[in-house]
Formats: sequence, structure tokens, C-alpha cells
Amino acid sequence: MTQATVDSTEVLIVGVGPAGLALAIELGSRSIACVVVERNERVGCAPRAKTTNVRTREHLRRWGIADKLAAASPLGLDYPSDVAFVTRLGGYPLARFENAFYCAPPPHAYYSEHAQWIPQYTLEEVLKAHAQTLPTVQFRFQTELATFEQNPDGVRATVHDLAGGKDYVLECDYLVGADGARSTVRGLIGATMEGQYGLSRNYNIVFRAPGLAEAHAHGRAIMYWQINADVPSLIGPMDAGDTWFFMPTGVPDDFRVDGSATSDLIRKATGIDLPYEILSTDEWSTSRLIADRYRDGRALLIGDACHLHPPFGGYGMNMGVADGVDLGWKLAAVLRGWGGAELIGSYETERRPVHQRVMDEAVANHAVLGAQLTQEGSEDDGPLGARLRAQIGAVIREAKAREFNTLGVVLGCHYAGSPLVVGDGSAPPAAEVGHATPSASPGSLAPHAWLEDGSSLYDGFGLGFTLLASGGWTAADLAQAQQDAASLGIPLTTWQPSVPALDQLYQARLTLIRPDQHVAWRGDAWPHDGPALLRQVCGL
Ligand SMILES: Cc1cc2nc3c(=O)[nH]c(=O)nc-3n(C[C@H](O)[C@H](O)[C@H](O)COP(=O)(O)OP(=O)(O)OC[C@H]3O[C@@H](n4cnc5c(N)ncnc54)[C@H](O)[C@@H]3O)c2cc1C
Repeated sequence: MTQATVDSTEVLIVGVGPAGLALAIELGSRSIACVVVERNERVGCAPRAKTTNVRTREHLRRWGIADKLAAASPLGLDYPSDVAFVTRLGGYPLARFENAFYCAPPPHAYYSEHAQWIPQYTLEEVLKAHAQTLPTVQFRFQTELATFEQNPDGVRATVHDLAGGKDYVLECDYLVGADGARSTVRGLIGATMEGQYGLSRNYNIVFRAPGLAEAHAHGRAIMYWQINADVPSLIGPMDAGDTWFFMPTGVPDDFRVDGSATSDLIRKATGIDLPYEILSTDEWSTSRLIADRYRDGRALLIGDACHLHPPFGGYGMNMGVADGVDLGWKLAAVLRGWGGAELIGSYETERRPVHQRVMDEAVANHAVLGAQLTQEGSEDDGPLGARLRAQIGAVIREAKAREFNTLGVVLGCHYAGSPLVVGDGSAPPAAEVGHATPSASPGSLAPHAWLEDGSSLYDGFGLGFTLLASGGWTAADLAQAQQDAASLGIPLTTWQPSVPALDQLYQARLTLIRPDQHVAWRGDAWPHDGPALLRQVCGL
């Protein structure tokens, strides 16, 4: 094959998954030219992620598309995000977690957007449709990254047009591998995954079963954990139109799902005799793996390309979106000249500890699956069976609460200790799971508040840095900050909302908020050497 054409862009993104789409939106929102290549059409009905968490939806709000995701909800926003533990869909109740993952609107004081239970493919459609409206973002489907080389000035990638059957060269300033678990870019930069592969084998089966929702007595829920010795599994509604997912978890090595036996398997697991039309069957395994490095020069990894963990707790896709957000503003800053080289290096410094922490949580959740909760006799009628079910229910409530009440993990992500964060002697709250403690300690996510008009404090944060004035500030401080930022070409807006007790929430009169809404610095007066502060937070 000949390399006929040479094309160029600022950032080449490999992979149109949630991580690649988030990065494309961050870059496109800042008018950075990017080409996103994807080898597949990326269609299908395998759901993968279903939990779009509160933080991801806050990013969608920032991008102006949270309402679009809400409108795309197949089950409707008023559908309860409860998780029911049952012996089987046609059997006894064991325990119930209400409002799992915080999907219920209206949102809480601590966040601007509730979470949403929605298939990953629907979220991807919403993200892609938005990215396609951004003039500097270009998608090339059926296009595969083959290889690349780089020098200190740029990257020269060879991509393969699968439809046309030819290779061409794409020159770019940066290349980002958002190319998933089997990342090509990871291999090309010589990074390797470290950790444990194959913690468990599982299946994901999508099927259609008219009447199933009415055929059980457990009420509406997003997931039903079936705790029985036959087929410990998860089952739940996917979409409008009687589509469901069925997930046998932690199956033994010799367990196989195939052909007409699949319908029988669902019948056996649920105890409900209905016609089950199988739409897709995927085997998947869980691992705990993290790349030994995320970067080689101008090539970087985000999303599943650099971290893989069990999906219990609903973190993986959301973490990939957050990677795209973190790297997006940093690449844009460097490409537009207001960010220094340190900014690119900080991507791994900041994100790796977050990945490690989330992986610990996901692996802890994975340690208790259906098979660990079954007990002989739990489906018996009579007082003995009832007593056993009460005991199992208590164990479930104790062991599984942290899987569905994750606010501390989701909002507690912080970058304290990053070279871009100016510490003030305080520390972010200790790691929490179910409860989140709002904190403006540098590195933390800026604490949220509602304004009197019903808008969110975050709605006033800009695309660049925001200097939040919370009370007792002086106009001279704000003017000086703007002047200092302008002298360095750093985009900075000031925001003086009228929110009662905001200075108490932020414990400072002034707080410098990064484009990703994390606190970079706080103080009671703008420092005399403001440019030095701004240089640090921009890695200049
Ligand atoms: C059963 C299951 C349930 C899950 N549930 C949740 C959940 O509830 N919440 C959650 O947050 N996460 C969940 N996850 C995890 C989530 O699905 C992944 O973390 C997420 O898809 C990763 O996104 P990504 O963009 O990093 O990569 P991917 O979605 O894997 O996308 C990578 C893309 O890159 C393309 N590609 C690869 N190589 C090349 C190449 N050389 N050239 C061009 N294109 C290439 C691939 O075709 C692919 O489309 C679940 C996963 C599974 C398996």
C-alpha cells in the first residue's frame, strides 16, 4: 500500500468511546482542531456502562447538553434508580437500595446534576451529536491508527482507511490513545498494564421479553441482583420496548452461554416462564490493571487504555470522561500558549492517584458478588427460609451499600499535592465513600451551591480560570487578577455571586477555580506576585 496523502491537525484522538468523545468536546469547545479516528462504526446493543454519575452529568451541563441526555432517557427520569436484591425475579425480596447512584431529580445541595441510568450507547450518541456541532472536531469512522513516530516538534501518525483500503499520514501536535482495553497506542508507546488480569468471568446478555416487567412483584428498579445457587446474576430493564440485560456474574471456568440454551438459562435464573428473545451475548472478564506510564512525549493515554477495573460501582466510563476533561483543558492551554510543559506532565500526576483509589473501591465491590451471598435454604417457604432471607438481607445492606452510595468517591476526587495546586496548609477531607464533605481546600472539587434564581454556582464558572469572590473581596483585587492573567494570556473571568455564607463554604474571600472546576488556590487577597501564582497553576 502507498502512503498517498498527508493531512494535519492539532490533536489526533484514537477511539470514539466516552473518553475520546469527552476529550474531543473539551478541545472543540476551545476551538482546538482535532481528528477522532475510530475503527468501528460503534453501533450495537451491548449496554456496558449504565451509570452516568453526577460528576459526568455536571460536565454535560457545562457543555450545555445535560438536558439532551435527560431527554434521551429510555426509562424516564422519574423511574426509580433502586437496586433490589431478590432470590430471583420470580422469587423473594432480600434487600433494597433506594436512589442508587443519586439518579433522582431534583439535584442535591452538593451537586448541580443528578446522575442518570442510561445505556452507554445512548450517552455516546448524545456526546457525539454535540461534538459534531463543534467546527474544529472531525470524525473519521472505519479508520484505524496503525502506527506513529514522534520528535520533539510533533507526531506523524499512519492511519488506515478501512473502507478505502489505503494508508495516509496524519501529522499532529499531540496524539491521545482513547482506544480502550486493547489500546494500540499503549503498545506503541511501550507501556504495559500492571496488576491482575481475569479476576472473574461474566456474561452480558441483552434480550427482549414482553411482559417481564409485569411478571414479577419487586416493583420498579434499575437492577435486580438474583441471589440464588442456580445462576447468581444481575437483571434489569435496558430500554423502552421490553429490552432487558441479564448478567451471570463470577461464573465458573466451564460455564458457557450459547444458542437456545440462553433463553432456558434466563428462565431458570428468574423462575419466570416467558418467551425470551436473545439480542446479543458478550463474555467479559474483570481485571485490575493500570498502565505503568500514561505518556511518552507527545502521546498520551486516557480511559480504559490506561486503567481497567470491575464495573461494580459504575466508575470506569465516568473516570474516562474525567480523564478527557483533565487532559482537554491542559492540551488546549499548551496549544494556545498559556499553559507550560508541566501541564501535560500533570495529567498523569493528578489522575493516577484518582485511578488507584477508584480501582480499590471497584475491586472491593467485586469481592462480594451473588455467589458469595447465596445460602442453602434461602428460597424455602416457612419461618426458616424467612429467617435466612432476613440474615442475607442484613449482610447485603452492610456489604453492598458502598457500591450504590458513592458520593464521597465521585465528588471527593482531588488533586492536592499536584505541582499545579497552591497548597494553603489545609488538607482535603479524608477519603470517604457514601458521604461527601464539601471542601475548598486546594486541589478539591469546588464546593457546589445553588443561587436564589435556581441556577448553579458552577454556571458562572468560565471555560478558562474563574476567580470566585465569595464576600469581603475588593474590586481592586479582581482588577489586578484580571490584569495579571491578561499579561500572561491566561483566560480568567471573575464571578461574584450572591450566595449566603459562600465565604464560609469556601473559607476564603477569593478562590481560583481551574477550568475543570477544581480549586487551584484560595486566599483573602490577590497576592502581590499574582503572575507567579498564575504561572504555577498553568505549569508555565
Ligand atoms: C458489563 C460492563 C458494565 C459496565 N458498567 C459501567 C458503569 O455502569 N459505569 C461506568 O462508568 N463504566 C462501566 N463500564 C466500563 C465502561 O464501559 C468502559 O470503562 C468505557 O467504555 C471505556 O471507555 P473508553 O472511551 O476508554 O474506551 P472504549 O469504550 O473501549 O472505546 C475505545 C474505542 O477505541 C477504538 N479503537 C481501538 N483501537 C483503535 C485503533 N487502533 N484505531 C482506531 N480506533 C481504535 C475501539 O474500536 C473503541 O471504539 C462497564 C463495562 C462493562 C464491560
